[in-house]
Amino acid sequence: MTHTIVNPADESVVTTVAAASIDDADVAIARAAAAQRDWARLAPVDRARLLRRFADAVDGAVEELAAIEMRNSGHPITQARWEAGHVRDVLEYYSASPERLFGRQIPVAGGLDVTFQEPLGVVGVITPWNFPMTIAAWGFAPALAAGNAVVLKPAEWTPLTSMRLAELGLEAGLPDGLFQVIPGKGSVVGQRFVTNETVRKIVFTGSTEIGKQIMSGCADQVKRVTLELGGKSANIVFADSDLERAAATAPYGVFENAGQDCCARSRILVERSVYERFMELLEPAVAGVRVGDPADESTEMGPLVAAAHLDRVRSFVPDDSELAFRAAAPTGPGFWFPPTVLTPARDSRTAREEIFGPVVSVFPFDDEDDAVRFANASEYGLSGSIWTRDLSRGIRVARAIDSGNLSVNSHSSVRYSTPFGGFKQSGLGRELGPDAPLAFTETKNVFLAVDSPSVE
Ligand code: NAD
Repeated sequence: MTHTIVNPADESVVTTVAAASIDDADVAIARAAAAQRDWARLAPVDRARLLRRFADAVDGAVEELAAIEMRNSGHPITQARWEAGHVRDVLEYYSASPERLFGRQIPVAGGLDVTFQEPLGVVGVITPWNFPMTIAAWGFAPALAAGNAVVLKPAEWTPLTSMRLAELGLEAGLPDGLFQVIPGKGSVVGQRFVTNETVRKIVFTGSTEIGKQIMSGCADQVKRVTLELGGKSANIVFADSDLERAAATAPYGVFENAGQDCCARSRILVERSVYERFMELLEPAVAGVRVGDPADESTEMGPLVAAAHLDRVRSFVPDDSELAFRAAAPTGPGFWFPPTVLTPARDSRTAREEIFGPVVSVFPFDDEDDAVRFANASEYGLSGSIWTRDLSRGIRVARAIDSGNLSVNSHSSVRYSTPFGGFKQSGLGRELGPDAPLAFTETKNVFLAVDSPSVE
């Protein structure tokens, strides 16, 4: 069986990719387990060196990876270049970890007590289609650094950059079998990662619905799991904020990657006294988003990833009843949807569900309590922004919102050196940051009895 890979910008066929079977997955997992035994025994300094070489190989392939992602996923070339550079940075950052996975020495009576951070073995990473290579790196880089092998299943629509990354790892000198990318269906290969007992942990990024299935599947073997799931984040604009800046940046907070971003600030909450003014400022900012050919260096937003996803996004805007305004977008071929601003009721479907497209809903609020209450009135809790000149309020509101990643006077959510993950149904566990390799280890405690001359 094969998957046909389509360029979302013009619907041309890019290539076809083999879809692995359950047996293929089992063979790959067995090879990974064999490679992992040697990898874990390698001196930490040598593992660090190989990961640095892998980072260097990615550095040399940034343009190539960006071009592949642009054709496979429709990402604007400038964005795709940033993503490839981010993969290099993540690898570089975690290449320091093999020599820094410290255990502890704990004071106890009668001997020496030490802890070791032991690798888990084989880790299964299952990725979504929205940021294929960056999310892959968040899983495989810290997992490899902690002494594990990785089998990775990319999303059916977007396997190409992950497959190239596995080749670059081999070219850099990673042992054969240590990091394998196995394209195929989620219900076949992904599901096999969950049921195969050799896989000791699943790192899943994707929808909350599939995340729940994976979590219950993992329960059978008490398999470790990290989940990065959906979001419906709030962008809260207070009357005392720099309103011009808040309005000018709001499109970036939600339309980046055509809104196919788990961190998208897809609900804008504006203090009632400045609501009208904010909408006046937002309209030209949205109209200014440059939507078009991903190969054009000035393009800011490309197409949606696939025809089926375009249909789903369209279903949220069946008519213009909630429409405030929208920007221009190409008509086709390609899976285009224009940046769209809605003003729905707080309990409407568009206000509650993750759309995962370039659609944002704007709501007025009365005061700080009202803003926090509405921001938290969601099953999700992944990110969010707060715009205010009162920094005490910025921190106070950030502390009150049930989300994993908040930013004050910014829409930034992701840095490789800081932890990332969700509250509530946005996920379980954290990726990135200094502690990520620990999530790919078990803590082992060893007690060594020490003869003491005073005990006779
Ligand atoms: P999805 O859940 O449909 O698929 C994600 C991956 O899981 C794919 O590789 C798919 O093949 C695989 N899969 C599907 N069924 C499976 C099964 N039964 N067993 C094992 N694997 C299976 O998600 P998607 O549509 O690819 O991605 C969009 C979703 O991802 C959105 O909800 C978005 O918010 C979320 N997301 C979250 C984060 C985060 O860090 N929190 C980041 C990016 C995307």
